[in-house]
Amino acid sequence: MDVSFILDALNDKQREAVAAPLQNSLVLAGAGSGKTRVLVHRIAWLMHAYEISPYSLMAVTFTNKAAREMQGRIEQLVGVPPQGMWVGTFHGIAHRLLRAHWRDAGLKENFQIMDSDDQQRLVKRIMREMNIDETRWPPKQVCWFINAQKDEGRRAAHVPDSHDPFSRGMREMYYHYEEACEKNGLLDFGELLLRAHELMLTTPALLKHYQQRFVHVLVDEFQDTNTIQYAWLRLMVGETGTITAVGDDDQSIYGWRGAKIENIQNLSKHFKDLHTIRLEQNYRSTGHILKAANGLISNNDDRLGKELWTDSGEGEPISVYAGFNEQDEARFIIEIIKKWRDDGTALKDMAILYRSNAQSRVIEEVLVREQIAYRIYGGHRFYDRLEIKNALAYARLAIDPNDDGAMERVINVPTRGIGERSIGTIREMARDQGCSMWQAADQIVTHGLLPARAANAIKGFMQLIQGMAGTLQNPDLGLGDIFDQIIAEAGLIPYHEKEKGEKGEARVENLKELVNAASGFNWLETDEEFSSPMMAFLDQAVLDAGEAQADEYQDSVQLMTLHSAKGLEFPLVFLAGVEENLFPSRMSFEEPGRLEEERRLCYVGITRAMQKLYITYAESRRLYGSESFNSPSRFIREIPQECLEEVRLRSQVARPVSMQRPDYSATLQRQNQNILQGHTVPDTNVSMGDRVKHPIFGEGLVVNYEGQGPQARVQVNFDDAGTKWLVLSFAKLEVL
Ligand code: ATP
Ligand code: MG
Repeated sequence: MDVSFILDALNDKQREAVAAPLQNSLVLAGAGSGKTRVLVHRIAWLMHAYEISPYSLMAVTFTNKAAREMQGRIEQLVGVPPQGMWVGTFHGIAHRLLRAHWRDAGLKENFQIMDSDDQQRLVKRIMREMNIDETRWPPKQVCWFINAQKDEGRRAAHVPDSHDPFSRGMREMYYHYEEACEKNGLLDFGELLLRAHELMLTTPALLKHYQQRFVHVLVDEFQDTNTIQYAWLRLMVGETGTITAVGDDDQSIYGWRGAKIENIQNLSKHFKDLHTIRLEQNYRSTGHILKAANGLISNNDDRLGKELWTDSGEGEPISVYAGFNEQDEARFIIEIIKKWRDDGTALKDMAILYRSNAQSRVIEEVLVREQIAYRIYGGHRFYDRLEIKNALAYARLAIDPNDDGAMERVINVPTRGIGERSIGTIREMARDQGCSMWQAADQIVTHGLLPARAANAIKGFMQLIQGMAGTLQNPDLGLGDIFDQIIAEAGLIPYHEKEKGEKGEARVENLKELVNAASGFNWLETDEEFSSPMMAFLDQAVLDAGEAQADEYQDSVQLMTLHSAKGLEFPLVFLAGVEENLFPSRMSFEEPGRLEEERRLCYVGITRAMQKLYITYAESRRLYGSESFNSPSRFIREIPQECLEEVRLRSQVARPVSMQRPDYSATLQRQNQNILQGHTVPDTNVSMGDRVKHPIFGEGLVVNYEGQGPQARVQVNFDDAGTKWLVLSFAKLEVL
């Protein structure tokens, strides 16, 4: 069989990697140079040129999505699916091993996997049993500690004893946690890896079997493997197998989760005769995009060093847009998206990338308003997030205490001593009497149907909700203030603050962002049928969470954090919120090495773009509940200036003089009054009867105006595009 076609669409270096003899090799190369492509072709080559059965191959990818894609691409290349081949993530493959050999692994046959929420619940239960103070040892931090130990391959017994009572406590809880997991057949994510490693170590016959079976192991995104993953790989490959690892030290972005860049350097020590191949041609991006990425990353020390080039031409420069606030930034992005869409680009070919999950809300709102389908990867949509749903559930209970769903959700969040037993009793009683859980709880409290401690805890909760109902009635409070108080009274901020790591911080940020969203909620715009702004807000949140999400097959704009964008590519990419303190994040200034990791993250972001990249930032931003004025990110300065082009508004219509919100709307109101009176509006020069030009709709006549404040709109009768309402503060109208 002639298999040379497998090498056809490859350059010399790629061909060398693909057609190499069975040996240990490392492909070390920058973004978009074809590393993943090499892996796919290498698998096809091994199967067809060397006639290695797919059964003898294992490929490790970074996500399950990448695994499916890889299988699809192999099938496309050689016409048959690689049957029997193991393709998956480290966790996925470890899980498979443990299911197959549960007995050898010392597991129950029906062992269960816990996600991080389950894990935390279990930790809490254990802490309660041990009578441990949650304020001193926040459960989230305990989970963090346990996971970090497991990533390093340490069981509780391996954690060095310490005189420091805090570390002692942690170690103690790890012991008890292990015991509880063992007893109940529960495995957390870290345990999958650790247990799979131990399985191989303790069962030599099994190890030998797999070492003989897997003739060749291939690993994508190798730079982000952690200690236990690396150790497991070494075992599986053993003396007889060989490995192909592909990676890019400049794209190592999971150091904060235990990934070890050093694993790349160690490869040559642990895998004999390692053959290293470097790829330097980039096939993904235009010259400008690539030059920007190269320039940026050259600011990092400690690189293995490589330079990428492309022969695809310079392309357009990178556009940098300074929004005057986050709303303006979102609007700008969506305007460009509409332009590309109208020019025939599919929505799925456009991606909006951001540093922090909380940034998505403003962008989502504009997308919903403009009825553009979108999809969020690797993270929940804003109103779908656990902490947001909890806060909303409190508000719902305050409006209607008989809302059982809301009651179930938050009765013991944060933990307030209402255990599963109490909740079970309430539930049963409600069922028996056909009443709501609230009413059942009320009876339990008044008739003393539960032990005093439990009854008191329930009573406390009911008083809390009644207090919130009072807050809701206070006519002096705006919607934002109400949420601020509800969140404070419920104790949600300290509850999440106690969680260590990015997730806890993100949750606190999201809660503050909710207050923000509520303050900015425009009650005037919504239908009259709602009895209160709160009702209108809650309904909109539910709709936002449920309906607008495009299904997997619908053409939709792709939204994701920079971390989830690894390995992907899109013709049009936006990097949003490229500001100091946000990206690089404020936290990265404190820990050594973190700033360089942020820069690598920016490198990952830039190199996702194929044709065109937009970098946007906002001069003022309301995020996490407060307004900040950040300067443009240092990363923008680090990009060679000749690659950049600043987007300027052709005419800065209604640009507020001050960035402060109150002044902002006052300014706009003044401007509107002037329009009404037929005067020329200061700053903008737009008045009724003017002929204006819009960058997309062309020329037209200003015929009407409506609304006040940031929502002020003008109606323009365009010569070609017909009559349109435009938001005065954002439409780029030029007066002719
Ligand atoms: P990343 O570091 O972002 O994961 P990568 O090195 O894995 O990138 P690939 O995704 O494999 O790069 O390739 C980038 C793009 O370039 C893909 O669209 C791929 O199909 C294309 N490509 C790679 N090599 C070639 C080639 N020799 N000829 C044509 N296209 C190529
Ligand atoms: Mg790749």
